[in-house]
Amino acid sequence: MQQIVSMDTFKDFSISNQLHYAIEDLGFEKPTPIQSKAFSVILSGKDVVGIAQTGTGKTFAYMLPLLQELKFSKQIHPRILILVPTRELVLQVAEEIEKFSKYLTIRVVKVYGGANINTQQQEVAQGADIIVATPGRLYDLVLSRSLQLKSIKKLVIDEVDIMLDLGFRFQLTNIFELLPSRRQNIMFSATMTDEVNTLIHDFFTAPSTISIAVSGTPLDNIAQYCYSVSNFYTKANLLVYLLKDKDLFNKVLVFVSNKRSADRLFEVLEEEFGYEIAVIHSNKTQNYRIRSIENFNKGKTRVLVTTDVMSRGLHIDHISHVVNLDTPSFPENYMHRIGRTGRAEQEGTSLLFYTEQEQEAKETIETLMDMKISNLDFPEEVEISTRLTPSEQPKDTEPRSTYKKRDTSLGSGFHEKSEKNKKVNQGGSYRRLIAKKYKKPKTRGDKNYNNRNKKK
Ligand code: AMP
Repeated sequence: MQQIVSMDTFKDFSISNQLHYAIEDLGFEKPTPIQSKAFSVILSGKDVVGIAQTGTGKTFAYMLPLLQELKFSKQIHPRILILVPTRELVLQVAEEIEKFSKYLTIRVVKVYGGANINTQQQEVAQGADIIVATPGRLYDLVLSRSLQLKSIKKLVIDEVDIMLDLGFRFQLTNIFELLPSRRQNIMFSATMTDEVNTLIHDFFTAPSTISIAVSGTPLDNIAQYCYSVSNFYTKANLLVYLLKDKDLFNKVLVFVSNKRSADRLFEVLEEEFGYEIAVIHSNKTQNYRIRSIENFNKGKTRVLVTTDVMSRGLHIDHISHVVNLDTPSFPENYMHRIGRTGRAEQEGTSLLFYTEQEQEAKETIETLMDMKISNLDFPEEVEISTRLTPSEQPKDTEPRSTYKKRDTSLGSGFHEKSEKNKKVNQGGSYRRLIAKKYKKPKTRGDKNYNNRNKKK
């Protein structure tokens, strides 16, 4: 049995005087909940998954035990690697570390793209204890042999949901392969997504999860209902049907689990409602996203489709409905989503669409809230779609009996490729498809946005 030790003040933390002095200088009176919870778990050396948003004191939550353990050393190769998704975060995290380690002799080196690589190579060559890095530039430094990761004992991945949403999975996997297998993995994420879960499953060993309660969600102000719906496109039909009541559904935030679903849903809704609909996800440019949110805030667009990760930091008031087009498998995400409505004494409504496969996730949410979500009857007028998304298609279980061995009498395998096979794999077929559809590169969300608005 794990012993429960009270960690209400910094005095309860077994940390060095140098760290205590730094905390005093910073004027921190008491640890934040994530700091109290994370300290002994991280110190134990186990793999850790922390669910916490920026502003909760999470940087200090992982740095405090790591700094406590890090002994003075003159060795060149770093022992702690902290990966973050953006250059701004590299600077921010490094700055925080410098504050905490004011009375320690610790070398922190910042590594990020868009800046001179030679300077960073020189800095790294002088020796580092902690590297704070974005994955791409870090990998470049390792490939150019300027940096060795063989001494890394602790890996922290911060804001991992954003990192994966930005498409860094491949870079992360590459980096994992270069790290010693005996290491502690620590990961912080504000939301749990399927991608985050897969990453944990693939690379973490029996991690401990620390989560801080979603506070201040005024559940009393939110009426919660759910519909049992057979598949994605039927969910889309149901949403179209509901959105026709423009007075009732006057400011609607729709959550989907990933960007593909966001694009699929947008396509259906746009056909029906045109400019009243906007979508934001990480493949849209920053400007496009900012403008979409502004327009939604001002009431120019009535419906905003978003993914969990993109909805972070959205400050939108007077939302009439939050629609959960999918049922989050992590109940915390549901709580974050519905907390977008029913704010500041306003009444709000949340709708949850769940398939048979999602029934269990719905029940987990109900257990967390200790209440049942009222079921509404599926409206007879709504068409039940037979169209399935790729992930809903039945899996092909046919044995691969059609595989033929190459006829060796045909000679060498090194022949000229036929014209058809000369095609180079361009990768990202989905992106190309979308780019074709919108007649522009996917990353130029802006252009498309302007054109569409002009037409209307
Ligand atoms: P973070 O969630 O790591 O981005 O931290 C948010 C802010 O809270 C930072 O400016 C920290 O310096 C500050 N902070 C961290 N821990 C504490 C604490 N125990 N008391 C007061 N402020 C804190």
